[in-house]
Amino acid sequence: MNQKGGVGKTTCAVNLAAALAQRGKRVLLVDMDAQANLSLHLNVDIYELKHSTYSLLMRRSTAHEATLFNIRPNLSVIPSNIDLSGAEIELVNAIGRERVLGTALETLWPETDFDFVFYDCPPSLGLVSLNALTASEEIFLPLQTEFFALQGVTGLLEFVERICAGLGNQLAITGVIPTLYDGRTILSRDVLADIRKFFGDKVFAAVIHTNVKLAEASSHGETIFEYAPESRGAEDFEDLADQVLTPPGTRPRRRRRKKKRYY
Ligand code: ADP
Ligand code: MG
Repeated sequence: MNQKGGVGKTTCAVNLAAALAQRGKRVLLVDMDAQANLSLHLNVDIYELKHSTYSLLMRRSTAHEATLFNIRPNLSVIPSNIDLSGAEIELVNAIGRERVLGTALETLWPETDFDFVFYDCPPSLGLVSLNALTASEEIFLPLQTEFFALQGVTGLLEFVERICAGLGNQLAITGVIPTLYDGRTILSRDVLADIRKFFGDKVFAAVIHTNVKLAEASSHGETIFEYAPESRGAEDFEDLADQVLTPPGTRPRRRRRKKKRYY
C-alpha cells in the first residue's frame, strides 16, 4: 500500500508473488484497484468477469467463486475491473463494512492452503483500502526513490494508527520496498539514505532498480520471470522474496551479481 500512484505497488505485488510461487509458496493476489493493473499484468480478461473483488465486497460472490485458482503454478488471483470504482460509495451503508473482505476470505481456509495473500491497494485511503488492511497482518510499503518519496507517509502512518486504535488490529508497516532505484543518480542514493534513516531496519535490503523489462512485462501480461528471467528486475524480486522468507533481523545481504547485465 501507498496512497501515491505510480510508485510500483502493482509491479511489486505481481513479481514478489511470482517469486514466492516459484519457491513453492502458495500465493493469492487480490486486486483492490478499479484500474485492474494487477489483473491485466497477469493477463486476466477483465471484461468478462462474473466474479471479482467488487462482487466479493458486495457479498454477491463467495471467495471460492471470485478466486481464479492457479492461473500460474502456485499463483491464484481475485481479479477486479472498473466495477470496483463503485465500491467506495456502495460500501458506506453496508453492515460491518470494514471487514467484508476479510470475513469472505476466511472461508478459503482450511480447504485451500495459501501461504501468502497480497492485497494490491488503490492509491487512496478509503473503504476499499480499509478492507485490505483489516484483512492483513502486515503492510508492505513500496516507496519510489525519487523526490517527495516520504511526503504523505505520515498521513498513511496516521491512517494505520487510527485503524489499530479503532478496530483493535495489530497492524504495522513491516516492510518498506525501495522502488524505481537508479544507483547512478545522487538523488536516488540520497532518497534511499533518507528512507533508511526514517524507517530503519524495516527497509528491505533488496532494492528494486528501474528496469524497463519490468514495465514491458506488465504490458505483455506476464510476470518478470516469464518475460525476462535473466533481467535485473527478475534478480531484484528474487532477492526480495528471499528476504520476505527470512525473519527480520536475520535477513541476508543482497546476493552478488553473477554476470554483467546489459538491459
Ligand atoms: P502503482 O501500482 O503504485 O501505481 P505500478 O507498479 O503500476 O505502480 O508502476 C507504475 C508504472 O511504472 C508502470 O507502468 C510500471 O510498469 C512501471 N514500473 C514500476 N516499477 C518499475 C521499475 N522498477 N522499473 C521500470 N518501470 C517500473
Ligand atoms: Mg497499482
